[in-house]
Amino acid sequence: MLATGCATSGPSERLGTLSADLLIRGGTVYPGGAEPFGGDVAISDDRIIAVGPSLQIAAKRVIDASGMIIAPGFIDPHTHMQPWLTSAEAHTRVLEPFLLQGVTTAFIGNDGGGPIEVGALLDSASARPVGVNYAVFTGFGTIRSKVIGNARQTPTDGELAKEQALVHKAMCEGAIGISTGLFYAPQSFSKTDEVIALAAVAGAMGGIYDTHLRDESNYNIGLSAAVDEAIRIARESGIAVHISHIKALGVDVQGSAPEIVGKIEAARAEGLAITASQYPWSASGTSLVASLVPLWAQDGGRIAMVERFDDAQQTERLRAGIADNLRRRGGAGALLIVEGDWSGQRLREVAEALSTDPVTVAVTIIRRADPAVISFNMDEADIAAFMRQPWVMTGSDASPKHPRTYGSFARKYDLYTRQERILSLQQFIDSSSATTADFFHLEGRGHLRPGAFADVVIFNPEAYSSLATYQNPDVPATGVRTVIVNGRIAVDDGKVTGLAAGRALRHQPPAGSCD
Ligand SMILES: [Zn+2]
Repeated sequence: MLATGCATSGPSERLGTLSADLLIRGGTVYPGGAEPFGGDVAISDDRIIAVGPSLQIAAKRVIDASGMIIAPGFIDPHTHMQPWLTSAEAHTRVLEPFLLQGVTTAFIGNDGGGPIEVGALLDSASARPVGVNYAVFTGFGTIRSKVIGNARQTPTDGELAKEQALVHKAMCEGAIGISTGLFYAPQSFSKTDEVIALAAVAGAMGGIYDTHLRDESNYNIGLSAAVDEAIRIARESGIAVHISHIKALGVDVQGSAPEIVGKIEAARAEGLAITASQYPWSASGTSLVASLVPLWAQDGGRIAMVERFDDAQQTERLRAGIADNLRRRGGAGALLIVEGDWSGQRLREVAEALSTDPVTVAVTIIRRADPAVISFNMDEADIAAFMRQPWVMTGSDASPKHPRTYGSFARKYDLYTRQERILSLQQFIDSSSATTADFFHLEGRGHLRPGAFADVVIFNPEAYSSLATYQNPDVPATGVRTVIVNGRIAVDDGKVTGLAAGRALRHQPPAGSCD
């Protein structure tokens, strides 16, 4: 009965007859979803074969983990790393920024942008090996564009059936669920009923609904109503709902985290499966246009937008809209430009340098380009209130020009766990591994226990931290000693080995649902 040996019951006599490929010895083991203890982890091939104090197991290699934390490899449910994972460059596909934080599994296809051809994306890992495991959401935005285009309209019954068929196809190809980004056009043109109809198809096949809410601020229906919508989707479609990068964005909704938490707690008490992820930064990453130009003025794309800038009839309304968005996001001092001519400067500094006002500067820049910006729009009290919830998982929303790609997990540990003590170490680890694996049904992942896949991180609790900053985002984290992915050593003594041991994680729909 070795395979079912309990982590805390001590080693069985018969473990002495086992031999392992790898023995991690003498660390503090956080098994994921359970209390820590001093002990060892033994690995053979791609599996953990034993976990417990003082394992008597011979091994080809022993890793001394004294003073170290041993935890399940971290799982990131919201990233934009598809270009990295499918890159022609083998080195890029290793996903060094993730491995050096101990992240061994990443999800892609979030915000409604996932593919319909999920099978092809999952298959690509066999031709082009990747450094971490990955799972794929199909995307509402992709499906809606394909069936009814990008215009503001409601699908006919026939179109809705086509959309549902595409969700079904993607689920049959192994999608972990369907993602939406209801804030973004053309998804923003959808009514809730359409979303429910598609979510129901994914839910019936064991998929999860992952959503960037229709509003994280007060741009349209407001954050509170957007959370109500997500809850309604859970209730009426029967699907498990995951709110991506939960936040209260902008001065008008700052302070509302307790109300939002209350709503979600009430829905969970009702029996609905609702969770969220969060990146541990007070700034989001976006572009100058997306952050400031009113949606009506973006309608029709960039050329139409610039024409509106040239139209004297519309100038006043446009400037007023930009000024209001600037106010909502905390003023010109809260926008850091991180691309192009003014990279490294706040919008306020650029305005001062040019002796003009921030709205005029924004219009001048936007006429020429649309640089990436960092938008400081969250309040620390809200961040802490969300983070404390046991249903809030760590996610990076990893994307270029923002330090969250290289530093989210390390920062959540160093800043919010070690320094600020918002979380205990076990809460940090569980919210970065077991909670995520369990909610998304990642079988055999997220826990250190016999029979599980050997995805393991060993880090130094005194050193694990993010070195990435808003000014200098592409700096790897420090303090991770060893990372094991499917039993293979991906980080050894703090250095990436280059082994690409990740796997495509293919969701298995219920038997008969794809016949
Ligand atoms: Zn998003």
